[in-house]
Amino acid sequence: MSLNDYLKIAKENKFAVPHFNFVSAEQLEAIVLGFKKVLDFHNLPYDKYALMVGTSEGEAKFLGYSQARALVDSWKKETNIPIFLNADHHKSLEHCKEAIKHGYDTVLIDASTMSFEENIKTTHSVIDYAKSVNSDISVEGELGYLRGESKLQETIEIRPEDFTKPEEVKEFVEKTGVDRIAIVFGNIHGIVSKQEEKLDFGLLEKINKAVSETFLVLHGGSGLADEEFKKAIENGITNIHINTEVRVAYREGLDKKLREFPGETTPYKFLEGAVEEMKKVVEEKVKIFLKQ
Ligand SMILES: [Zn+2]
Repeated sequence: MSLNDYLKIAKENKFAVPHFNFVSAEQLEAIVLGFKKVLDFHNLPYDKYALMVGTSEGEAKFLGYSQARALVDSWKKETNIPIFLNADHHKSLEHCKEAIKHGYDTVLIDASTMSFEENIKTTHSVIDYAKSVNSDISVEGELGYLRGESKLQETIEIRPEDFTKPEEVKEFVEKTGVDRIAIVFGNIHGIVSKQEEKLDFGLLEKINKAVSETFLVLHGGSGLADEEFKKAIENGITNIHINTEVRVAYREGLDKKLREFPGETTPYKFLEGAVEEMKKVVEEKVKIFLKQ
């Protein structure tokens, strides 16, 4: 089954496919084992629930596209979980091609900072290329201006004019033929400490009505309350990205071990702490997204 098949199951059954970023073998281990633990604990069938893992351009550069592919393949073989590898926020056709050439299952062509027309043109060129290689490759576009970075920040300006416009989203989907679309309706990248992140569910409902056949993706899930996720899924979100919260957990787990054993030089002994903390966050989020 393709990623789009799994997203369809999620949409029909009102749950969301989780997406986490990784940059190393032990981070991928934390994500896969955290996801697996939730499936096993709740007796959820492996053929219904897929996991998405992704590397941004920077993460792929650090880890290597073919290394990311090989690591994901090894976990698929070992666990039998349908895991899909995504090129997250790739900003050009050239970079998307690079990921696809290395066997990535899906790409997010993020041309959201370009003009509406240029965004359509760039996204369309990625779809053409991806589908010519393999029609099962799922392509995501992004519309609206998603502010913030995947880290801790105090405040981020939220401007309604940055939000995805329902009339534009319809035109965008028709002209590009994207499988999924990342939208902006109050979500931001990262976590803000001095501000409340509030989603505009009325807008989400309108977007969902305008493009009911397209899978809607929520980026910047870190920092949102459980209830917000549930409401977002009820209103059409089928794929949720979490990055900052797992990054913070990884760092805190690592810091704790290093403080506890300041003279320790054996990597697996301190990385173990990072994996444990990261796994906990993955489990918490997966439980909410799969509505368990
Ligand atoms: Zn994102």
